[in-house]
Amino acid sequence: MDFYFHQRICQECGVQLKGRRDQKFCSDYCRNQFNNRNYAQKFALQRQINRILLNNQRILAQLLLNEKKRNVLELELHKRGYNFEFHTHQKIAKNGQVYIFCYDFGYLRISDQQLFIVQRNNASFP
Ligand SMILES: [Zn+2]
Repeated sequence: MDFYFHQRICQECGVQLKGRRDQKFCSDYCRNQFNNRNYAQKFALQRQINRILLNNQRILAQLLLNEKKRNVLELELHKRGYNFEFHTHQKIAKNGQVYIFCYDFGYLRISDQQLFIVQRNNASFP
């Protein structure tokens, strides 16, 4: 049993290692395979979050139509698949009101059912 635990193996292919104590892989090939996979997984999460943020932004833009500001029911956002867990940043107005943004589109909660949607102009972004 002791032998099993002290045996060092390649983290990618599992072959027994006979090199330095800190050796983790049997070859450059295995090290690259291992690192590339972790890298891909890391970016998979970022892509997933970016998709949610872009979807949120699109929904706000669609609801705003061609206006600069507009009141909408929160229900309208839910219906379209808005994800309230994700946003890019928030802005606190001089009067203390907190606007939640997905990139250049955002909203202010004005009641338990109503939101006030706004678009920031690019010149003052963010
Ligand atoms: Zn290996």
